Amino acid sequence: MPQRPRSVRSLSVLLLAGAALHGAGAWAKPAKPDAPMAEAAAVGPVDDHPVLREIAAQVDPAQLHATIEKLVSFGTRHTLSDTMSPDRGIGAARAWVKSRFEAISKDCGGCLTVVTPAQTVSGKRVPNPTEVMDVVAVLKGTEEPQRVIVIAGHLDSRVTDVMNATADAPGANDDASGVAAAIEAARVLSHHKFRATLVFSALSGEEQGLLGGKVLADYAKEQGWLVEADLNNDIVGNTQGEDGVVDNTHVRVFSEGTKAVETVKQANQRRYSGGEVDSPSRNLARYMAGISSRYLDNFSVRMVYRTDRFGRGGDQVPFLEAGFPAVRVTEAHENYTRQHQDLRTEGGVRYGDTIDGVDFPYLAQVTRLNALTMASLAWAPAPPGDVKVEGALKHDTTLSWSKVPGAVGYRAWWRDTLAPTWQHDRWAGDATTVALPNVVIDDWFFGVAAVSKDGYASPVVYPGPAGSFAAVPDPAGP
Ligand SMILES: [Zn+2]
Repeated sequence: MPQRPRSVRSLSVLLLAGAALHGAGAWAKPAKPDAPMAEAAAVGPVDDHPVLREIAAQVDPAQLHATIEKLVSFGTRHTLSDTMSPDRGIGAARAWVKSRFEAISKDCGGCLTVVTPAQTVSGKRVPNPTEVMDVVAVLKGTEEPQRVIVIAGHLDSRVTDVMNATADAPGANDDASGVAAAIEAARVLSHHKFRATLVFSALSGEEQGLLGGKVLADYAKEQGWLVEADLNNDIVGNTQGEDGVVDNTHVRVFSEGTKAVETVKQANQRRYSGGEVDSPSRNLARYMAGISSRYLDNFSVRMVYRTDRFGRGGDQVPFLEAGFPAVRVTEAHENYTRQHQDLRTEGGVRYGDTIDGVDFPYLAQVTRLNALTMASLAWAPAPPGDVKVEGALKHDTTLSWSKVPGAVGYRAWWRDTLAPTWQHDRWAGDATTVALPNVVIDDWFFGVAAVSKDGYASPVVYPGPAGSFAAVPDPAGP
């Protein structure tokens, strides 16, 4: 993916180069620093943000190591394990995470609110009613506190028998790595203030049936949160497969193609005119690909057009079922001898999810991707609402949308219907519509992003219910 230039010689060069230079995400075009006002107005605010590079530099592999070492020390963090012991089991582990969030909050003048949403549940993998408790730190947004960006990892761990709540289950990679990423993102981002609210979470009950994801999605609804993105980090620290493949330069981001909450009527509309690869979750994945391309060296997002790995699930699923955009972040190449295994050596192979299987420089890169995505989303305006496209039987296409707070302008995007990422764009200024002359509606997919005065862009929103970031169901019903 070519990097965008930091400075541009002229507007015409910039416009000519535009198609080739954009690829991964939605970005405001950089205005030449000394560009005349008219040029700047034509291309939109500068979008390269040194502060995001500073945030990336603050993510510390040693912090991630310390967190995982501590979490492994609790022996097991099985959801049905001891909750009373001070040093073993899920109770001790969640108390420690809570104390860690509180310590981070102390360092930022009490900027975080730590809450522990819980539900008592029973089910196929929970024979007796058990309290499933998440540990959650909230960094309240300054302008739009109800708009929420979530990062999650799951605290619970398991061995071969999913019901074994006593055997040692270190869960260093599955998923102390995801919890460590969430805690480190909290540590680094808590030194900044954001328009929107950031939520850092350590979930429980994942291995017993995605229970903690449901607890947090329910809590989000109770609180009236408008969740714009849930970044579920599960198994994000290993770089070496048992087949010998080593990959420390990619991370997979799984996203659903069509919304879990799509109605039959919406599906019929979408089947006809498109949108099956443009859910808000998918455009969130594209956004993350854009972040890695611009800000992270030798590290990129490999988008996977699936909700999750084949036949497997994660805590993003309850968010999707609640209508919230969500992705699953997972290492590029897994090692199955380290997942869900009793600690043992068999046939010369060592099994078990121990800390020596975590690549900390790699986990730091994954954490940077999350932290930068959260910061960029939370400094950006909300995605525009009510996006529509029209142009049938014309040679021009017109996009329209409703304005969102904090946006100084909007950028229209389009791409070939076979292309995975947005290719072409036009700055619309502070308008609610833009015409694209000689762009035939039939031949492209379209979208629009909102841009702040500092050049932070929202994800691109595909028109209609298929692409809308709003969790509200179609008022006309199914
Ligand atoms: Zn997991």
